[in-house]
Amino acid sequence: MPHPPAYAAQSADKPLGPHTIERRAPGAHDVAIDIKFCGVCHSDLHTARDEWGGTKYPCVPGHEIVGTVTAVGEDVKGFKVGDTVGVGCMVDSCGHCDPCKAGEENYCENGFTGTYDGVLPDGSHTFGGYSTNIVVDQRFVLRIPHKDKLAAVAPLLCAGITTYSPLRHWKTGPGKKVGITGLGGLGHMGVKLAAAMGAPVVLFTTSPGKVADGKRLGADEVVISKDPVQMAKHAASFDFILDTVSAPHDLNVYLKLLSLNGTLCLVGAPPVSTPHPSPAVFNLSTNRRQLAGSNIGGIRETQEMLDFCAAHGIVCDIETIAMRDVNKAYERMLKNDVKYRFVIDMQSLKDEAKAA
Ligand code: NAP
Ligand code: ZN
Repeated sequence: MPHPPAYAAQSADKPLGPHTIERRAPGAHDVAIDIKFCGVCHSDLHTARDEWGGTKYPCVPGHEIVGTVTAVGEDVKGFKVGDTVGVGCMVDSCGHCDPCKAGEENYCENGFTGTYDGVLPDGSHTFGGYSTNIVVDQRFVLRIPHKDKLAAVAPLLCAGITTYSPLRHWKTGPGKKVGITGLGGLGHMGVKLAAAMGAPVVLFTTSPGKVADGKRLGADEVVISKDPVQMAKHAASFDFILDTVSAPHDLNVYLKLLSLNGTLCLVGAPPVSTPHPSPAVFNLSTNRRQLAGSNIGGIRETQEMLDFCAAHGIVCDIETIAMRDVNKAYERMLKNDVKYRFVIDMQSLKDEAKAA
C-alpha cells in the first residue's frame, strides 16, 4: 500500500488526527511490513509536541513496531513473506563509521535516521508506526522470537532496548545493587530486566499506588522518592541507578545514593526548555561518582535483548488502545497513569480507514 492511512500531528499544539502518508515501493534491500501493533513511547509525545525542538510536521510518531512481512526485495536475506518482525527507533545509519561497524548504529558518527522525524539519504522524511505499514531496510529489521503476546512484545523495541543496553554496559548482575527511577514504560522494563539479570533491584517512584506493582514486576524494594527518610536509608549504597524520568527533577538526591565509583545513568529526556538543574559538584566528587547517559541500543544488541526476553518469558505489561484514542493516552501518560505501556492495535486504524 503506497499511501497508507496514519495518525499525524500537524503542529506542536494540535492533537494527532487521521492523515495519509506515502511509503516507498520496496527496493532490493527492503522489507515491507504490515503493522499489527505499535507501542506509545513518551518520546512520541515529546516529538509530536516539539518538546526537544526541530520537529518537522506532519509528524507520524511510533517506534515500537511489530508486524508481518508482506514483501521483500531481491537482495533481502534472512526475512521472508509471513515472518513476524519488529522495527525500533532507527531505520538507517551510515554503515561505515566506527560505531556502525561495531554494531552501535545508535551512536553513528553521521547520525542515525530515526524511524520517525528523521531524514533518509534521499532527503525524504520518515514516518513512524502510527500507520498500517512501513518499508524498512533489512539491516534495521528485527526477528521476533516470541511465540505469542505480540502486542506486549512491541514496546521491547524501544522501552526494552533503552533499558537493556545500559544495564548490560554497566554490567548489571548478582551482587550489583541497581536502582530504577520512574515506573512508566521504560522503568517497568528496567525493573524486569535488571531482576532477570540477577541484580538486587530497588524501584524509586513518586506514585504510592505503584508500590505493589513494583514488587510484582521484580523489585526487591520500592522507595517513595519524595520521602527523605526512605531515601536516606539507601545513602551511598548503589552501584548503578538508571533514571527513566520524563520530566526535570533534582539529580542530587540520586547521586547521594551511589557508592564508590557508582553511576547514575540518564535515559529519561525531559523537554529542552526545562532540563534537569545541574547537580552539585560535591555529590559527584564524593565517592568518585559518575553521571552518564545512554541512547537506545544498536541493532545487534536489540536482537540480543529480544532473544533474552523470549528466553526469560519477558514481555511488557500493556494496555491496548485504538488508534483514535492516542491523544487520551498522551494525557494519561502525562499524569503518570500508564500501566505500563499503551500499545495501539493497528486493526483499529485499518477499520477506521475502511469506514471513512
Ligand atoms: P512514561 O511511561 O511516561 O514514564 C515516565 C515515568 O517518570 C512516570 O510514569 C513517572 O513514574 C515518572 N515521572 C514523570 N514525571 C515525573 C516528575 N515530574 N518527577 C518524578 N518522576 C516523574 O515515559 P517513558 O516512555 O518510560 O519514557 C521516559 C523518558 O525516557 C521520556 O523522557 C522519553 O522520551 C525517554 N526516552 C529516552 C530514550 C533514550 O534512548 N535515552 C528512549 C526512549 C525514551 P512514577 O509514577 O513511578 O514516579
Ligand atoms: Zn521510545
